[in-house]
Amino acid sequence: MGGPTLSLVLPIFNEAEIIPELARRLKSFLADLGSGVGESWEVIFVNDGSTDESATLLQALAVAEPRFKILSFARNFGHQMAITAGLDRAEGDAVVVMDADLQDPPEVVNEMLVRWREGFDVVFAIRSKRHGESWFKKLTAAAFYRLLRAMLGGVSIPADAGDFRLMSRPVVLTMRALREQHRFVRGMVAWVGFRQTAVRYERPARFAGETKYPFRKMLRFAIDGITSFSTVPLRMALWLGVVAGGVALIGGLWAVYVKLFGEGVVPGWTTIMILVALGSSAQLMMTGILGEYVGRIYEEVKRRPLYIVREETNFGDRRG
Ligand code: UDP
Ligand code: MG
Repeated sequence: MGGPTLSLVLPIFNEAEIIPELARRLKSFLADLGSGVGESWEVIFVNDGSTDESATLLQALAVAEPRFKILSFARNFGHQMAITAGLDRAEGDAVVVMDADLQDPPEVVNEMLVRWREGFDVVFAIRSKRHGESWFKKLTAAAFYRLLRAMLGGVSIPADAGDFRLMSRPVVLTMRALREQHRFVRGMVAWVGFRQTAVRYERPARFAGETKYPFRKMLRFAIDGITSFSTVPLRMALWLGVVAGGVALIGGLWAVYVKLFGEGVVPGWTTIMILVALGSSAQLMMTGILGEYVGRIYEEVKRRPLYIVREETNFGDRRG
């Protein structure tokens, strides 16, 4: 098959401030791409329902360079769906997913290609330092990856690695077979296996603009990560129930003891309140966790497409 050697996949959500500099960096990187890649590359921009000038800027790039391709979503489907769409359409022997804000420097891709040529199928980039990100983001991210790793038995998700990674074509084809709705892409890549390795880099600050991951999206992302790969929270609910039950039993026995052998003490209001509170909190928590998984089952049985492409540019005459 005559596909390109290297595909770059870049999700774009309201990055108009960055696109000119991004294009400049990508072009200079691609121009002196060595190790047999040469002219054989494509860049897939996935426009995830941007509402600023991003679409116009990308179109202008695609007109001038046919190897710059664009998938435009009908609305904002989120970072993970944008990555999914890029992987679905990338034709390269090696596919690299990277953020558009230049926090994932294109130059690191050279190191990834070296490891790929050595025979690795997945090369993820571990951020040894993160510049220009709030202490809150760094702290929650560090805690999250450690919690996630502790909850996963068999699958080893690398700590401190984002979605910046190279995947060989066999891995990309395997990823295409995973059509679940709640997508934690970095976990899914770890799950498929193959030969994986890491390169390290210092993550620079965002080139311009604000993060497109406000707290609400980050939280959603963390919950997806944990519930997609682990049923530990479900089991936790069970243990919580058992512990609450044990405490309630001891409390109950004590209440009976006091009533029988105490000096006419009426078992107190406090005891009842504590037991009621304990019991109902355990119940509520369990229901909440169950609800999270039941909601997921509902989402999956709907079998909706994962994203909707409104328009595509430079992909040739292919009709899907
Ligand atoms: N992004 C996206 N859809 C979204 C949010 C973000 O495609 O709903 C893209 C964004 O344009 C960027 C990448 O995902 O290329 C990572 O986002 P960002 O840099 O804002 O995240 P952070 O680095 O702050 O975690
Ligand atoms: Mg960023």
